Amino acid sequence: MTRAPLGVIEQAIGNLAKVDEYLATGMEMTTNATLDLLECDKDLNEETLSDLKNVMLKFVEMETELGHFRSATEHAKQAINGSNDGANLEEIFDDKFRELSSATDADALKEHKAYKDMLQKVTDMLQPGEAEEQLSENVESSDLERSGLIVTQQDVVTKCPFMLTEMTNPVQNTICKHNYDKASVVQMLEARKNVRCPMLGCDNKKNLQMADLVENSDLKRYIEKKARQTGGKRTRKHI
Ligand SMILES: [Zn+2]
Repeated sequence: MTRAPLGVIEQAIGNLAKVDEYLATGMEMTTNATLDLLECDKDLNEETLSDLKNVMLKFVEMETELGHFRSATEHAKQAINGSNDGANLEEIFDDKFRELSSATDADALKEHKAYKDMLQKVTDMLQPGEAEEQLSENVESSDLERSGLIVTQQDVVTKCPFMLTEMTNPVQNTICKHNYDKASVVQMLEARKNVRCPMLGCDNKKNLQMADLVENSDLKRYIEKKARQTGGKRTRKHI
């Protein structure tokens, strides 16, 4: 009787990898949606913001539960393997799952990296003074620094080194951390095979490959913000 349910459970656990992916995507989308809303409206009401935080906490909760589910299953499997009488798989699982769940409270969920990351980004965005400074004095933002975009005392590079036009879809080279516009790279790679990072003084001698490039959403956000702000400033100056 123990064989069949174990097999089913193991298969279910295998399928959970997909759920992990969905949850990670959900968390990312929640953060991005929150930042987009804040960008449009800094005075986003508290209620909406708190709703969005709760959505994030819900994802965190689901991910945590998933972890408990895995641990409880592992625990039940070992218990069953170690006993030759009809130990009740379901009961063992339930007990362990309950034990793990009761040890997790709401405060623990708030310690989750994705949740803290979201709060940090919201805080960063709600400090408009700082954001203005970043653009006018080229002081690096923590976000940009984290994604390796900026060298201290230098401008944030928002132009694609291939086409020398403002990037719209920045991708970052994971090897040398330089950024290019995705469309430009695709175009370059279609034209010839051996394309290297065009940044002046770059040590990366490896030929460019799409596999080495990741989307740089922080830089994209920065470029969009810059476009809006400089657009606004220009209008004001002309009046
Ligand atoms: Zn480079």
